[in-house]
Amino acid sequence: MRSVKKSALICVFLILLTMLSPVTAQTRRQPVDLLVVGGTIVTMDQTRRVIDNGGIAVSNGRIVAIGPRGEIESRYTSRQKVNATGKVITPGLINGHTHVPMVLFRGLADDLDLQEWLTKYIFPAEAKNVTEEFVRVGARLGLAEMIRGGTTTYCDMYYFEDAIADETAKAGVRGVLGETVIDFPVADNKTNVEAMAYVEKFVARWKGHDLIVPAIAPHAPYTVSEEHLKAVRAFSDRTGAPIVTHISETKREVDDSVKAKGASPVAYLERIGFLNERVIAAHMVWPQGTDIAILQRRGVGVVHNPQSNMKLASGVAPVPRMLTDKVLLGLGTDGAASNNDLNMWEEMDTVAKLHKVFSGDPKVISAQQAFELATIRCAQALHLEKEIGSLETGKRGDLLVIDRDTLNQIPLYNVYSDLVYATKAADVETVIINGRVVMRNRRLLTLNETAVKADARTFRDRIIKSLSTATGP
Ligand SMILES: [Zn+2]
Repeated sequence: MRSVKKSALICVFLILLTMLSPVTAQTRRQPVDLLVVGGTIVTMDQTRRVIDNGGIAVSNGRIVAIGPRGEIESRYTSRQKVNATGKVITPGLINGHTHVPMVLFRGLADDLDLQEWLTKYIFPAEAKNVTEEFVRVGARLGLAEMIRGGTTTYCDMYYFEDAIADETAKAGVRGVLGETVIDFPVADNKTNVEAMAYVEKFVARWKGHDLIVPAIAPHAPYTVSEEHLKAVRAFSDRTGAPIVTHISETKREVDDSVKAKGASPVAYLERIGFLNERVIAAHMVWPQGTDIAILQRRGVGVVHNPQSNMKLASGVAPVPRMLTDKVLLGLGTDGAASNNDLNMWEEMDTVAKLHKVFSGDPKVISAQQAFELATIRCAQALHLEKEIGSLETGKRGDLLVIDRDTLNQIPLYNVYSDLVYATKAADVETVIINGRVVMRNRRLLTLNETAVKADARTFRDRIIKSLSTATGP
């Protein structure tokens, strides 16, 4: 009798425990701002972990936890959930080099070399058209294009960069944004004194912002004097602002530098004490002699722009060698006028294929390396690897959910191969930046796409007219 009573009691206790346990677990779950669950997570962390049926918890803009879905869902709860079942979750792509408002010059002048393209078309078009309004309208078009294509961070150089920062923050996109310093009068500043005063105010305004890293952008060593380059470096030392620039883009630039300064652009910049771990140098198509060793030693970030370099026939950067020699190397599109889009999927595909055909070795850059160049390696080149570039606890919540059900992705054997050689920008379904959903199921949430397109179209006629008056009847 006694033992029957005892076992009945145990039974009741067990039933109660079963009934109560889900409630107990639920009450213990930590509320977070956002949960992304299901799907294959390509983390790009140090071990390049790929988690099947994974989960990510994000709070206050940062990743709180990442792991198997069951584990994440048992520990965290959120009112905002993205179900990524059957899809791929990756870090947001990083476009290491842009001039974002130049989308308004997309297709204006093609099939020319850099000097002719710049001096006959781009510089005159800029002189006649670039205003703060132009820059804002162009930035919104470029930002919409970048979000759609899964770019969550970009590194820019243009005029009125303060207005670009404003549009970028409003769109919820992350940017390293450099205000141009150049030794001739431009749209926003007519003298070096004006430009330096602008940069001073610009950097003070945006420093410490969650999304914007304000930077100073001397155009190139051939358009900015030694004295002004030294002032840029001193400004960067004082404020910690990154320095965004172009170096060794064409053979002609290198030959001219050797003639005028007795050194390659990199060697010249080293000689004047310009290079350090805050410099982000676009192109580097023609490093000479010990240039690569200098770049590596100084911790300079280099951004390779394969499609722009191909289109302007600037040459082929020694990317495999820079990778072997441990240069901090990332990938970018350059401005849309020389590309002609801001699509990092194409850039990844191109970087892998260009260097295979150029070296005659199909193993020279793997699909995984190409994907690294648009994520964690590009974060290193922008000196932001502690914040972005991979999906890890403590890093910013910048991530993509990519559809895996489009015809061009079926069937899937290797996730990196799929991402680099088969995925298209249109396959990006949901984009999250700093924990905020900026595109959900292909719908832009921070920009009005119809208005963005209409505003951009109004500039077409204005630009054509300005160029016809510039060249005369
Ligand atoms: Zn550029």
